[in-house]
Amino acid sequence: MSCPNLDWKAYVLGESPTAERAALDSHLAACAACREEVARLGAVMAALGALPQEEPPRRLAFVSDKIFEPGFWSRFWNSAPRVAFASAAMLAAAILVHAFTRPAPVAPAPGAAQISEARIEAEVARRLEALLEEKLRQAEERQARRTAQLVTAAAARIERRYQAQLLAVEENLNVLRKRWGVLYTASAELGGAR
Ligand SMILES: [Zn+2]
Repeated sequence: MSCPNLDWKAYVLGESPTAERAALDSHLAACAACREEVARLGAVMAALGALPQEEPPRRLAFVSDKIFEPGFWSRFWNSAPRVAFASAAMLAAAILVHAFTRPAPVAPAPGAAQISEARIEAEVARRLEALLEEKLRQAEERQARRTAQLVTAAAARIERRYQAQLLAVEENLNVLRKRWGVLYTASAELGGAR
């Protein structure tokens, strides 16, 4: 247990008042419990710092914004590529109609052209939406996997540090035990000599 009246979180974050900092430093030099607490907080901060700020994939956001922006489709349908696309489609339709209904009139009614245009628009929108949904799903999966990996790695790092600290404590204890042993033997010998 570290000393409860000392704010080591602020200390680790570099937020302790300048006037208190020197006192905290000298306390740290003297108090093993507080040193351990500061090391633990430092490891947690390092692990948190290793986690990157997640943001949505920029390219995907850009593409979807453009597609779902109101008026995008109306602008597309009035643009030059659409005119070329529509005339090619109409030519193909005309050839087809001609092949199946030889004597019948070839020119499609204005209403029919409107309907096919709306159908194509709906179909393209549907496919784009499906494609975007799939891309989004893949991106989300990738983000989730990466975050999980980072959290696992950070946890492993903290665990390793903790183990290292425990080992150091154990070594110190062993040294202390040996010293006590020497002291005990020495005092026993001294006692025995008397
Ligand atoms: Zn302390």
